Amino acid sequence: MNLDKLEEVLKNEPKYRLKEARDFVFVKFIDNWNQATSFSKELRDELNKECPLEIKAESLVSKTGDSVKAKIILKDGAEIETVLMRHMDKRNTVCVSCQVGCPMGCLFCATGTMGFIRNLSTEEIIEQVLFFSRLLRRPAPRNDERVTNVTFMGMGEPFLNYDNVLQSIKVLNDTKAFNISIRNISISTCGVIEGIEKLANSGLQVNLAISLHAPNNELRSQLMPINKRYSLDKVLKAVDDYIVKTKRKVMFEYVLIKDINDTDECAKELAGLMGKKLYFLNLITFNNVKGSQFQASSNSRIEAFKKILKKQKINFVQRYRFGDDIQAACGQFVTGK
Ligand code: SAH
Ligand code: SF4
Repeated sequence: MNLDKLEEVLKNEPKYRLKEARDFVFVKFIDNWNQATSFSKELRDELNKECPLEIKAESLVSKTGDSVKAKIILKDGAEIETVLMRHMDKRNTVCVSCQVGCPMGCLFCATGTMGFIRNLSTEEIIEQVLFFSRLLRRPAPRNDERVTNVTFMGMGEPFLNYDNVLQSIKVLNDTKAFNISIRNISISTCGVIEGIEKLANSGLQVNLAISLHAPNNELRSQLMPINKRYSLDKVLKAVDDYIVKTKRKVMFEYVLIKDINDTDECAKELAGLMGKKLYFLNLITFNNVKGSQFQASSNSRIEAFKKILKKQKINFVQRYRFGDDIQAACGQFVTGK
């Protein structure tokens, strides 16, 4: 898909054509200009040639049918993964990637093992949401639905591609484009402090999530090398400043890894950190990564961990696992192998 040229192709047309064209792409979700029936045949042909709407992708539906993973092949041949999660209450969440690979190298994360290849452009980020918007537009089994939520929890670290991520959020939120409520858009970061600070000053009411995964610096540095640069205390300080500025809730993500961060001691230490107002903890089951040294915690261990958090009155939920069978769950995104 190449929409860069849209304005150029339409420059000699009446002004409203551009609006109409955007409407076709972002509201009606056409995937070929021939569906733009109010345009002349010549214009449709030219648009198909200059700004083709095709998105090259392969998709895979999970056994339960509630999630669809797509591998999108970009213009330069790079591949990214993105997932649609269909909730019972008709919400449809797309989890988007913002980089090809990721330079952060977290030990438990499939993307981390790929290394960093490049940042995605704004258009390449949006394309992932467009892909699923088109899929949902089609009838049956649930008629004509829309993407209602977007999370930046796919491949890559959003705050290392700040400008393109923010620009894509503006398009997702734009009433003339996707019209997705800003409060339904979430950015997850491993704790890039400059990004947290910039977001706090941006005035954008997007949700912020922090990948915590360990309750102390020693363990966090072992699991997430980036903690040596952005240590836990500094990340939490940046989050507190963010909360003072924005008055918004912040979600902390904690993947439970067997015998690593799921002990009673860890639970108590975590409870000690999470007691603040407007902090919200999300416990995530570890999703298997091929060749990983780690395993998921047992159910009984998770229950014991939760019991300690409950006793300390910590605000938390355990995230439902989508798409595990198609390797479409968090941290399972890897391409090029
Ligand atoms: N780079 C950002 C966003 C992408 S990762 C970040 O790290 O926050 C999205 C979420 O999936 C993060 O919370 C990440 O820590 C988590 N994750 C990574 N590997 C995982 C795994 N194997 N199982 C479950 N969650 C994982
Ligand atoms: Fe990158 Fe996030 Fe994976 Fe860490 S968890 S390697 S920051 S994508």
